[in-house]
Amino acid sequence: MKPVPIVYDDSIKKYSFPGTHPFKGSRFEKFIRYLKESKLVKEDLCKIIGFIGPPPSEEELQLVHSPFYVRRVAEMSRSGIGLLSIDTPVFKGAYEAFLSILHSTLSAYRAIASGEAEVAVGIGGGLHHAGRSYGEGFCIFNDVAIVAKYAQKEGFKKIFIFDYDAHQGNGTMDIFYSDPTVFYLSIHQDPLTLYPGTGFVEQVGVGEGEGYTCNIPLPPGAGRSCYERAIKEVFLPLVECFKPDLIICNGGSDPHYNDPLTMLSLDLKGFWLIGRSIREAADVAGAPAIDLIASGYDEEILPRAWTCIIAGIVSFEEEPCSEPPRELPEAASAFENTLREVKQVMKRYWSI
Ligand SMILES: [Zn+2]
Repeated sequence: MKPVPIVYDDSIKKYSFPGTHPFKGSRFEKFIRYLKESKLVKEDLCKIIGFIGPPPSEEELQLVHSPFYVRRVAEMSRSGIGLLSIDTPVFKGAYEAFLSILHSTLSAYRAIASGEAEVAVGIGGGLHHAGRSYGEGFCIFNDVAIVAKYAQKEGFKKIFIFDYDAHQGNGTMDIFYSDPTVFYLSIHQDPLTLYPGTGFVEQVGVGEGEGYTCNIPLPPGAGRSCYERAIKEVFLPLVECFKPDLIICNGGSDPHYNDPLTMLSLDLKGFWLIGRSIREAADVAGAPAIDLIASGYDEEILPRAWTCIIAGIVSFEEEPCSEPPRELPEAASAFENTLREVKQVMKRYWSI
């Protein structure tokens, strides 16, 4: 197996919110230092690479975002004054900082599109809360949706998005809600208990896109066994049915039990399993995959959890990934019902 490229460039650190905001660019640097010391790099299972191809511009942003919105954010970024939502201020230079994040995401795509790799990782990407004309949840634009549109322009027809961030990707879901060429699946904390408050089982898409959105909400306290079942009983079977020619994944370490912003209980071994499921999905579909990693707000856990995801992608049993399960038994039993419901709803459209 060829080493998995991990795209990293120091310029992504500029995507950093001011003051006491939890999304800081320094997190990326901490991770890359940790990864460099890990056996994954030392044993050539993955390699850290820089950006590939030309930097993106307004043209790529407009694949998804309205020209008015792009201009408005650019203006706010020039002045450093502007608030897209209560948690998403537009700091000075935010526009250019996002273009660096997008460059990372497009580079991961280019690594698989050129045939250089079957799975590639883009550090900094996964800003899934921004919609066509809005930004929120620390996301000023949506690189997940942009790379999907970009890949379609280059000839990839059917794309499966697997969003394993603790928060549901409302922006990505909105953008593709009526689009049958992009399947959106999200595993996230119950929207009744966490921002953004979307991602209910019955939200399955509309019009031609009906049946092409799948939401799997997890109760607070859910952990490894819930993820394992959601992956095995819903995610992988849907990939098999949909037969994508490209898989785009996004997430990070915010489902970890120590994360200060969420109430899930995933342990490090669970992140390893998520990574492995990305590789499995690519194998099942016979299609390349990219994974975009950005979330996680416990800075001690973040480098370890992100490394465990990558260890899972290359199926390497890293020592730090062997944390015992931490999920609450009552959460696991409550999830039984949700899982049954999700399967019932998806069976209307797919033979899973
Ligand atoms: Zn998140």
